[in-house]
Amino acid sequence: MFKGFTRFLQSPGESLKSLFGTEGAAAGTPEVRVIPREDHPVSRQHFSDAALKVLYRLHNAGHEAYLVGGCIRDALLGRMPKDFDVATDATPEEVKALFRNSRIIGRRFRIVHVRFGREVIEVTTFRGKPGDDHADHIAQQSDDGLLLRDNVWGDIQEDALRRDFTINALYYSIADFSIHDFADGVRDIEARTLRLIGDPDTRYREDPVRMLRAVRFAAKLDFHLAPATEAPIHEFAPLLLQIPPARLFDEVLKLFMAGHGVATFQLLRHYGLFDMLFPEAGEAMAELPWAERLVELALESTDRRIHEERPVTPAFLFAAILWGPVVQRQAEQEARGLPAIPALQAASQQVVSRQLQHVSIPKRFSLPMRDIWDLQQRLPLRRGRRVFQTREHPRFRAAYDMLLLREGAGELEPGLGDWWTVFQDADEHEQARLLDKVGAHPAGSGTPKRKRRRRRRKPRGGNGDA
Ligand code: ATP
Ligand code: MG
Repeated sequence: MFKGFTRFLQSPGESLKSLFGTEGAAAGTPEVRVIPREDHPVSRQHFSDAALKVLYRLHNAGHEAYLVGGCIRDALLGRMPKDFDVATDATPEEVKALFRNSRIIGRRFRIVHVRFGREVIEVTTFRGKPGDDHADHIAQQSDDGLLLRDNVWGDIQEDALRRDFTINALYYSIADFSIHDFADGVRDIEARTLRLIGDPDTRYREDPVRMLRAVRFAAKLDFHLAPATEAPIHEFAPLLLQIPPARLFDEVLKLFMAGHGVATFQLLRHYGLFDMLFPEAGEAMAELPWAERLVELALESTDRRIHEERPVTPAFLFAAILWGPVVQRQAEQEARGLPAIPALQAASQQVVSRQLQHVSIPKRFSLPMRDIWDLQQRLPLRRGRRVFQTREHPRFRAAYDMLLLREGAGELEPGLGDWWTVFQDADEHEQARLLDKVGAHPAGSGTPKRKRRRRRRKPRGGNGDA
């Protein structure tokens, strides 16, 4: 694919062991392959002006400055990178002093955000090894190996070995435009392999989110996981339960809102990771024949919209993911005697509060999500003024889209979706005719495909809903 680049790749691979084995580490020999500019296809045209500005200013101030991570990986794969991460030997304070438009963020992992309009360049100081006689306030690890803080500064080689995957440890130098490869990342890019740097068990224990990142990159790049990187995931999946829900929310957005949601979802299910993020949804998928399909359809639609550069909202996706548990809990509430609407409200409340213990959902998404659920109850009611109130509801469109997915997934008999498709764009006259027709034959009224849906657990319910 890249001429000079491929030639470079054919040079015999150096032993990775010396990088991680005690010998190499003790001797401190820098094991780096430097790929000169003429032997790789990455040029400054791959990078934004903002990213270059940050690199040059650091360089001119006498610091080392590299682009690292996703942007180099993506550029080597022939994709245009969208966000840029800079690594430097300057401390966060030194970086901040160089850029007026910057601020230091994060405690667990201190970095500097340099802002140019809407673009943010992330600048990180080289990390060293945690735990070497450093004070707790810079690096901290829990008894089971979870890295609580990681703010020990180091050199570029140490920094490379702290990164997650070999393909994410490639550095582009602004001094001579060469690429520095510390972990045979270029070889893995060529072989389309995702490989953790170092011992997989240790690296997953340090940060279980790396399991999610593995799946995300595999789906996005169409890479496979190296056997040793893949092997521990199933067993280690429950470590995700230690991760703060707010961090998992950010990760979930990256997993599902980056245009590869379906593939990512299937991998998450395959490795038992999905159930750690959405336990009740995972249980519902085991019991309700349509619940998994509903999520796939929602992700297909999200992926399509992202590729067409149309807007997407996580509220819709969360509504689909959690709909299975809502339906189950609503049935339980109805079996206890609650009428349908309060039963749905109680169910929504329960599902949301359980979910927030795992992945947080900010109010700006959970409120519209609940509206989408409420409207599922209202869409079948097509009499009188109600139908116009439903039509005018700000979440009507999302709720209608969800109704179509429910029919598509086989939860509901088809019909109601089509009715709304026609009704929403009809003129007054046509609308009156459609409403009359509903009175005569309320076919396709949002009836569940499986009539046994209600009172599964309590066959002799007495809630009197005629
Ligand atoms: P993309 O931006 O396309 O999602 P990326 O690889 O740039 O991919 P970022 O989250 O932007 O991902 O992180 C930038 C770099 O920081 C990564 O490439 C990796 O080298 C390092 N990194 C990020 N998260 C971790 C982590 N949890 N453990 C170790 N290294 C990490
Ligand atoms: Mg990035």
